[in-house]
Amino acid sequence: MEKWLSLWSIGQSKTKEDMKAIKNAGFEGVEIWAEHKSAKEDLKLAEQCGLKVGLHLPFHDLNLATPYEKVGSFILDITRHWLEELGKYGGGHAVIHGGSAWASENKDEDRLKVIERLKRIREIAIEQKVELLFENQIPDSLNYMHIYPSSVEEWLNILIQTDTTACLDTGHLAVLGASLDETVKTLGNRLASVHFSDNDAKGDLHQLPGDGVSKVGTEELLKILHKNNYKGPVVFEINPYTYSLSEILLHSSVKVEIE
Ligand SMILES: [Zn+2]
Repeated sequence: MEKWLSLWSIGQSKTKEDMKAIKNAGFEGVEIWAEHKSAKEDLKLAEQCGLKVGLHLPFHDLNLATPYEKVGSFILDITRHWLEELGKYGGGHAVIHGGSAWASENKDEDRLKVIERLKRIREIAIEQKVELLFENQIPDSLNYMHIYPSSVEEWLNILIQTDTTACLDTGHLAVLGASLDETVKTLGNRLASVHFSDNDAKGDLHQLPGDGVSKVGTEELLKILHKNNYKGPVVFEINPYTYSLSEILLHSSVKVEIE
């Protein structure tokens, strides 16, 4: 396994010193946040500092379940652009968020749109030698919209139908109330990346592990992942509006050796 940091965690401004500090803290890679203004510079900076790169694809305003064909083709265009950018750095993994039906009554027909668009994006990713990961989400508790995926079962079905691998966000799973142990076992070798953070089991707070209520510290997570033969990255995805970079790098959950 490898220790990675999501660059969302350090906010919009980054320096070469920040990147070096991340490397010196034992991180092997960083997940670039495509919606940061500096995302293209961040790719360069990470490479210069000897860090592996992955990408969190843009998702704001890019609803994979949109009924508008023009928005659907715009999503494919902008996603292709970012997958090509990552491809220039020798590929890696790219994470995509789900989508949402405009109303939960439409969920069955809109699921087909998500599947069709995800399949197309996966084809583009393969052309760029990038592994496409689909992340678990948090259901809409109002049940007005339907979020894809809203359950582990729905997530798994979409993964199977699109032949896509999984990015498991432990914080999203805690809000959903599903068991981490069971979910890792169910995903099996479809699990390709883990987004790691903590929360109060109500909101997606992206706290440092141990600061929330989940009681899943780094050691507990590693135990579960080892048991299931997981070998991929553990990506700390921490709230930049709560913590500074030095607070993250000095935190006991981050100092645990990951191998
Ligand atoms: Zn995540």
